[in-house]
Amino acid sequence: MSCIFWKILTGEAPANILYRDELVTAFRDIHPIARTHILIISNRHIDSVNQLEPGDEALVGHMVLVAKELAKQEGVAEHGYRLMINTGEHGGQTVPHLHLHLIAGKLARFLMG
Ligand code: AMP
Repeated sequence: MSCIFWKILTGEAPANILYRDELVTAFRDIHPIARTHILIISNRHIDSVNQLEPGDEALVGHMVLVAKELAKQEGVAEHGYRLMINTGEHGGQTVPHLHLHLIAGKLARFLMG
């Protein structure tokens, strides 16, 4: 599989990995758009939200809970942050592997209005 996130998962490509468990891996976005910009990706290859199925509720819920913990760890929980899943071309998705953006800092306020 040539997806960059798959290469990060398998160790073929480098990443600043902050967290990993049996379901998800989190690392810093290579082009941060705010002071904190972390990606939480599924360890299983799933193209996008469009490919989620019944049974994936625990995975998606877990992604959000990991984001919450990372926000606390980054010291941004109190002031707030944005969680975002871009889906498909018109949704702004550029990497075809399910991922949740955790974005915090001044710039986050101006994203998507
Ligand atoms: P999206 O546009 O929602 O698909 O988000 C993809 C994100 O992946 C973008 O914010 C990119 O900056 C980020 N990205 C792409 N390649 C890498 C990489 N090698 N390491 C970390 N983040 C990456």
